[in-house]
Amino acid sequence: MNVKVVKFGGSSLADAEHFAQVASIIKADPARRFVVASAPGKRSKDDIKVTDLFYECYEASRTHQNIDEIYSKIVDRYNAIIEGLGLDFDISGEFEYVKSALQHRSGRDFAASRGEYLNSLILAKYLKYDFVDAENVIFFKENGTLDAEKTNEAMRKELLQHKNAVIPGFYGVMPNGTIKTFSRGGSDITGSIVSRAVDADIYENWTDVSGCLMADPRIIDDPRPIKRVSYRELRELSYMGASVLHEDAIFPVKMANIPINIRNTNRPEDAGTMIVAENKEFDTDTVITGIAGRKGFSVITIENDMMNSEIGYGRRVLEVLENNEISFEHLPSGIDNMSVVVESKALDGRRDKVLAALNRAVHADSVTIEDGLALIATVGHGMVKYKGTAARVFNAISNAGINIRMIDQGSSEISIIVGVEEHDFDAALKAIYGEFVK
Ligand code: ASP
Repeated sequence: MNVKVVKFGGSSLADAEHFAQVASIIKADPARRFVVASAPGKRSKDDIKVTDLFYECYEASRTHQNIDEIYSKIVDRYNAIIEGLGLDFDISGEFEYVKSALQHRSGRDFAASRGEYLNSLILAKYLKYDFVDAENVIFFKENGTLDAEKTNEAMRKELLQHKNAVIPGFYGVMPNGTIKTFSRGGSDITGSIVSRAVDADIYENWTDVSGCLMADPRIIDDPRPIKRVSYRELRELSYMGASVLHEDAIFPVKMANIPINIRNTNRPEDAGTMIVAENKEFDTDTVITGIAGRKGFSVITIENDMMNSEIGYGRRVLEVLENNEISFEHLPSGIDNMSVVVESKALDGRRDKVLAALNRAVHADSVTIEDGLALIATVGHGMVKYKGTAARVFNAISNAGINIRMIDQGSSEISIIVGVEEHDFDAALKAIYGEFVK
């Protein structure tokens, strides 16, 4: 039988009304057997996510302050959901156990994880689904990374025993038994892990937007939704700042070749975005799949006559960055010069040290660091098939009177990256979008 894993984000489970909507989505399709839940999110723009309330509680307890006031806000949020749904469910024992653990200064991750734990208990009760605690089926290694294979095996074994289950997102357990969370937004990863374990036909990720958009709606008015995008395209877009899904959520489903469907809980009739292994049906109308970009990059430029004939030059430059734990983004180079693009914040507090070390390592004619670079990635599998796509990107930017500071096209031809001054960022993005989307 067809199996779907459904993950609901915090805004989809923020209050009783949303819980009821979520239940109707789940019950509309018996294949939706496994549900991953986030903690209650914001009900309005100025609201506070329950996860953040838990972080506040942790901080208060750590600094020996009274947590009563903050904790009662959390209890009120859950009680309002339980009452709003008319559920006969007494979880006061759970509230007490969590509070006492917080007062006894259990870890920060434990505190944060209780948001999804309590929400999932309520959702399981409401749906009449089993509750499977993530702490028994998601394992981290000593170094804090996910133990993917142990997790997959344990999750598979456990879920085989349940027709339907709710699994809290966001956390798992360390080898010493303490709770550990993924980074923020990590319930997406749990959904992906569950999908792989049950070999789902599809991983539906329900949120509050109807899928990924071709560009950032804060910059482009009403951008077009993306119907289909490949895992690789999405990774390029999310790395460059498009945020719909946690970056690390792609890996487990990619391994198992399971498509992800981003859907809108408030508009279940919308098809959303399909994230698939290969985006063969790219949009021939637009050629590109999406555009994303970020500010906050710096360019380290090293100039040296006869650089090209010196073997090992590049390695020595990169070694300096490695020794300073700085990772690089791009490496455009010429005959006698080489530039390294890095995130500006990676240079914080280390600028002078890096400059001195570079001078020592390569005896350059000049080494400079320039800040204020923004990178824009134009992404799409369709680009390989169409001649002149790069030219269209560059022309669009130059016709808008903007100077391009850097160009990089990966050899896979899935994306073209241009660097522009930060103050030209919005205009450059608009120019590219306008060129491809008519
Ligand atoms: N509740 C967590 C957060 O706010 C995890 C999640 O919702 O995915 O980041």
